[in-house]
Amino acid sequence: LASRDSHPSRTVVTIGEGEGAVRVGADAVAVIAGPCAVESWAQLEAVARAAKAAGARLLRGGAFKPRTSPYAFQGLGEEGLRLLARARGETGLPVVTEVMTAEMVPLVEEHADALQVGARNMQNFDLLRACGKARKPVLLKRGLSATLEELLMAAEYVLAGGNARVILCERGIRTYEKATRNTLDLSAVPALKELSHLPVMVDPSHGTGKRSLVTPMALAAVAAGADGLLVEVHPDPAHALSDGPQSLTPDGLVDLMARVRAVAAAV
Ligand code: PEP
Ligand code: MN
Repeated sequence: LASRDSHPSRTVVTIGEGEGAVRVGADAVAVIAGPCAVESWAQLEAVARAAKAAGARLLRGGAFKPRTSPYAFQGLGEEGLRLLARARGETGLPVVTEVMTAEMVPLVEEHADALQVGARNMQNFDLLRACGKARKPVLLKRGLSATLEELLMAAEYVLAGGNARVILCERGIRTYEKATRNTLDLSAVPALKELSHLPVMVDPSHGTGKRSLVTPMALAAVAAGADGLLVEVHPDPAHALSDGPQSLTPDGLVDLMARVRAVAAAV
């Protein structure tokens, strides 16, 4: 079902409803901006307003965080979901947030406009099956060491379950390189588009782990044909509870958006 042979025309995945709905794969490059984790109303509101002002069309923020250390900030949980819904109410931006377990799918989809399956859960088959029963689109991130074939088979679980709205996301893979947090595999963009009809997004924030590299790689992703970008933004990255070093400031997002528009117009 994920393969291009089964579906020769490109799939457009709509996130949100009404005026703010975003057609990923059809319209302009869809930018999802927001903090790694929802930390407080003040933080989320500041980012949501900045994202809206900069021209991002979707708001992100983790309420349930898959952290490497069990002692690191794990997210605000359900309270984070409520804050995201409130931010959508204030800005009109549809909300994308991660769901970590199959059991949590009903709760998360009640508040969010799209469900993110994180890299660490790309092959959590129970979760993928639950997302197949969900009524919201799924942003499926590539696993830390997953091949494109494995990513497409993970998408297949969601599609086979009955949910046709899947967006693939390249977010960097494990290699021997240590200068960047992950190695952003931009060849995945045209390769996935040859193999599949599903829209493809790129996450240059986790893909590089370094603020200074986010905009250059976002531009390269757009040049490579990405349908959208996922970018972490924080009003005060130095004090972020997670992923501060890779978070853009609101001004950084304005600059990224202007340059993305220029590259998108040129390709
Ligand atoms: C995230 O988007 O905040 C995240 C945890 O991403 P990944 O699953 O790609 O590490
Ligand atoms: Mn993050």
